[in-house]
Parts: sequence; C-alpha cells; structure tokens
Amino acid sequence: MHIEVRGLNKHFGDFHAVKDVSFDIAKGHLIGLLGPSGGGKTSVLRMLAGLEQPNAGEIRFHGELVNHLLPQERGIGFVFQNYALFKHMTVFDNIAFGLKVKKVSKPALKERVMELVELTGLSGFEKRYPHQLSGGQRQRVAFARALAPEPQLLLLDEPFAAIDAKIRQELRSWLRELIERVGITSIFVTHDQDEAIEVADEIMIMNQGRLEQKGTPWDIYKEPTTPFVASFIGESTMIDDVSELKGFEEAGTETKTRALIRPEYIEVGDAHEFKMLSVTEEGIVHRLHFRGSEWMVEVEVGSHKLMTYRSLEKPALTPGQKVRVLVHRAYLFNHERSWMEENR
Ligand code: ATP
Repeated sequence: MHIEVRGLNKHFGDFHAVKDVSFDIAKGHLIGLLGPSGGGKTSVLRMLAGLEQPNAGEIRFHGELVNHLLPQERGIGFVFQNYALFKHMTVFDNIAFGLKVKKVSKPALKERVMELVELTGLSGFEKRYPHQLSGGQRQRVAFARALAPEPQLLLLDEPFAAIDAKIRQELRSWLRELIERVGITSIFVTHDQDEAIEVADEIMIMNQGRLEQKGTPWDIYKEPTTPFVASFIGESTMIDDVSELKGFEEAGTETKTRALIRPEYIEVGDAHEFKMLSVTEEGIVHRLHFRGSEWMVEVEVGSHKLMTYRSLEKPALTPGQKVRVLVHRAYLFNHERSWMEENR
C-alpha cells in the first residue's frame, strides 16, 4: 500500500509533538523510523494507526484520505515490544484471533493460521502457550498474529527492544526476509541505528517533532542534510569552525562553517610517512581501543579537538605520541546548506 502523509501536526496541550511532517512510502517498502526519545516517532505511528487524531494534516492510503477512519477500518497490523500475546491462548489461537474477529470460516481460518505458522518458522509450536516459548518465538507469534488478517500496512514499534542481542540480530534478518516474502508496506520504529540501517529500505529520522531526513541508509550516511542527522547516524567529530582545520581555511571564510568528520575521512601516521603533504595537522594520540572488529584511535588536534580514526589492523601508535593527521574530507554545514569538501 502506498502511503502519503502531508503536513501532519500533533499538539498535546501546549506541546507541539509532531511538526509539519510530510512523507511518501512506496508499496512494499520497509521504513525505519529512527530518532532520539521524545522525537515524535510513536506519535506519527499512532496517527497512521488512527489511535491518535492529528491537529492538522492528511494521511492517505492508496490515494484515499483515511483521517476519519477508525483503527479497525484502516487495515493495519501492529507488533509492539512487549509481546502483547493473549497468555491464556495457544499459539494457534493467538494467530487465529484477528481471523475470528473477521468471522472467517473454520477451514479457511485453519489454512491461514497454518500458512503463517510455517511462514514464521513456528511449525510444531501451535499448541504451546506463550509462557512455553522463548522471547524470540513469542515475537514471531506476534508477527504471525499481526499478519493473519492480511493487513495492508504493518506498524512495528520497537519489536525487538526486549530481546537479547544475539537473538535480536537473528530476528532482524528474519524480519527482512519475512517482509520481502509477504511484500507488505511496513514502518519499524527503533532507537537503534544499526538495526534501522540493517533492516530498512529507507530511514526517516525524527528529532524534536520534525522529520529531519528520509532516504536509503547509505544516502543518509553519505549525504546527511542536517548536522543532527550527520551526528546521529554513524560516527563523527563536529568541528565548530572549519577554518581552524588545515586545508579547509577557505571553506570557512564566508561565514562560520561547522565541519563534520567521519573516522574514515582522516588518516593518522608518523611524521615521516606524511612529510610530502603540506596540509597535515599536528596531533597527539589520545587513546586506542579495540571494538571487536576494528581499532579506534582518538587523536587530539589543536586545542581539544578529538578526532577518531578507524583501522582494521592494530595501529603502531601509543598514547601521547606525536603524529601527523590528514583530514581529507569533511561535511560542511552552514545553516541550511550542507556540502562535502575534499582536501587533497
Ligand atoms: P520514544 O522513543 O521515547 O518512544 P518517540 O520519538 O516515540 O519517543 P513520542 O512518544 O511520539 O516520541 O513523543 C513525542 C513527545 O510528545 C514527547 O515529548 C512526549 O512526552 C509527548 N507526548 C506523547 N504522547 C503524549 C500525550 N498523550 N500527552 C502529552 N504528551 C505526549
């Protein structure tokens, strides 16, 4: 189902929780809705679901205005973090719940439930009760139950938040495959940027009620349009005035321009390695730490500027050592504009 949202606003008393949010979601896409706590993600989801009325704005499904429709008339499935399964019902009955409400005939109901049991990898668990399942299995039942009545839109609010890291990782790829097989338009709210990047076709980043950016994970990483997005997605160092950086002096002359530098945009090395380059800074190694698959090195450049450099090999550097630092790229932000500057 194609979704169009235009000028969505929500006030809670004096508080403006959702500010002029507009977006389109293509049919069958999985969207990651990401942002800090209180950014307005749940409020947007609740308005799409019809659980909350917008103060202004239009929501269209398939081109049709749905603002006036009740939640049950919108053809939406939900999965929330706290597996709201019916505790006194078996897996089969939990999945069948929405079909019974729709008064689906018994043979059709059985066929649909068994189809979902298989689709969600729950064969053999039909007669179990929720307390006889692991957290991951319970969440799969929640997905099967949400999908059973063939909704046109699936809303997922932190569905894996209560699940431990390893299972959560498995569930992410499982979800990705499930959504592809079913071909259902889905919105996935999460705090976790890795989760959104891994699972979603596109990401929408909300902050303080505004939609800051929408795009593929790669586009957002590569071309963040606001300083907030740049610092929220991926690692970076923000330098308040780019003209303090060697090689970028001119970029900062017009107005004071902020620069954002990703770990992969800097190189750190011995003085002699970099001696042919005229634009290197002097730095001091501050700290090295291993993060499981890579090393991160923090270097101090000028006064208090800590930049991070990433290396797959253990770097031959020690804290306190003097080094040369080459910043070869930076994102520059100047109020509304952002652009990329190269230094080589
Ligand atoms: P989280 O990640 O913590 O769930 P969120 O991005 O989903 O946050 P929302 O739950 O949409 O954010 O909340 C946005 C803002 O609106 C918050 O400041 C919240 O306190 C406020 N808010 C949400 N619902 C209500 C309500 N019913 N009454 C008053 N304020 C509310």
